[in-house]
Amino acid sequence: MTAVVELMDYADVIERFDPVLGLEVHVELNTNTKMFCGCANEFGGEPNTKVCPTCLGLPGALPVVNAKAIEGAIRIGLALNCEIAEWCRFARKNYFYPDMPKNFQTSQYDEPIAFNGYLDVTLDDGEVVRVEIERAHMEEDTGKSLHVGGATGRIHGAEHSLLDYNRAGVPLIEIVTKTIEHTGGRAPEVARAYVSALRDLLSALDVSDVRMDQGSLRCDANVSLMAKDATEFGTRTETKNVNSLRSVERAVRYEMTRQAAILAEGGSIKQETRHFQEADGTTSSGRTKETAEDYRYFPEPDLVPIAPSREWVEELRKTLPEMPSERRKRIQREWSLTDEALRDLLNVGAVDLVAATVEAGATPDEARSWWVNTLAQEANSREIELAELAITPAQLAEVIALVNAGELTNKLAKEVVQGVLAGEGSPAEVVEKRGLKVVSDDSALIAAVDEALAAQPDVAEKIRGGKVAAAGAIVGAVMKATKGQADAKRVRELIIERVGA
Ligand SMILES: [Zn+2]
Repeated sequence: MTAVVELMDYADVIERFDPVLGLEVHVELNTNTKMFCGCANEFGGEPNTKVCPTCLGLPGALPVVNAKAIEGAIRIGLALNCEIAEWCRFARKNYFYPDMPKNFQTSQYDEPIAFNGYLDVTLDDGEVVRVEIERAHMEEDTGKSLHVGGATGRIHGAEHSLLDYNRAGVPLIEIVTKTIEHTGGRAPEVARAYVSALRDLLSALDVSDVRMDQGSLRCDANVSLMAKDATEFGTRTETKNVNSLRSVERAVRYEMTRQAAILAEGGSIKQETRHFQEADGTTSSGRTKETAEDYRYFPEPDLVPIAPSREWVEELRKTLPEMPSERRKRIQREWSLTDEALRDLLNVGAVDLVAATVEAGATPDEARSWWVNTLAQEANSREIELAELAITPAQLAEVIALVNAGELTNKLAKEVVQGVLAGEGSPAEVVEKRGLKVVSDDSALIAAVDEALAAQPDVAEKIRGGKVAAAGAIVGAVMKATKGQADAKRVRELIIERVGA
């Protein structure tokens, strides 16, 4: 049985405490091979098919550093405005974990490859917060455990566990912020916005597929509270492996309200790792947090130090793409967006989607209207990210083109989009299957117009007498008769023609 957890009202938390955050993001690099061996670096696959003596940690196997991974690490460091180490080493981080066959993780400790940077993060209302980066270091991922037979999929209650080492040795970069202070009630939003900005940056660098749902981007959120009159940081907890942007925000907020309730009653916070529960947005106790001393770090004797030449670093700097923040400014200019329109676009995470829809032939205004209004509502009601909706920018551009060609009305277009979202196929297929084409055949429309005019002779008389506004009633009747599949503009033209006005 889980004990009832006391939470403090959020407004009270902010009144009494200052939250302090620290965010650790692990990103899996998209190199062809693993960090220290030639095994394929691919998600999934038959268990234990992408392994070799090195990533299985067999005695005598020797690691070799993947140069592409170092290149990725340096490019990430540069994009985060970091200094790049002139000389650094790997270290062994010793701990036992069944899915880590060497019983140590090859990581970096006091000599990270990149350090002292920052990332400017834009909040929902346009305010920019600078998040300082402590370090970005290289390490390797672990394998995966699968606990079988229990109700929860966790080790507790499981009958046995299976181990898959395909992921063991996949290159990871861990990006660690300095403490983020003075964000007050916006701390959860800052955490989400930071991970979001980092994800955009990594995506622009093309160093990772940044799939939070597949674990290629994972966030650990350190949260502590300081009473308003305190001079020292409080004890922090570390909520591990939060795997969506929304969850990052929820996890931070939950920890703030939980810790505040404990502190307000004179209790103390236990330094520990915690797990985030997606279903109800709570966190639960994990293991007591180790300190660095527990890991007995020492320099890795099997790998040579890394000393990237300044020439190489400068060459890599030249490969940096346009940064997302710069791109936003350019897009605002090119699409003539007001600050507010740009903010709406950013808030729903639609910049890339709109850009891709424009690329596929739509105008910026058309694409923006669909993504920011109609589709954002759909994503919201499904509680997923906009990009996770089952419609591609190319498909949306196809729908928009059909509207522009007069083959769909706006109303019909919305139905087509619903069909695509429901998995009924491409826009053309949905139009076909649902029979949604606009009635463009004039003879069919004329018949419907004549019928409606005959049914309302007084209205017909008014139109004939010059009261063109009265045509609305006839348009309505025709639309009803054609189940909304008539082009209202054409119907109106035909009405005027038929009454001979
Ligand atoms: Zn291997």
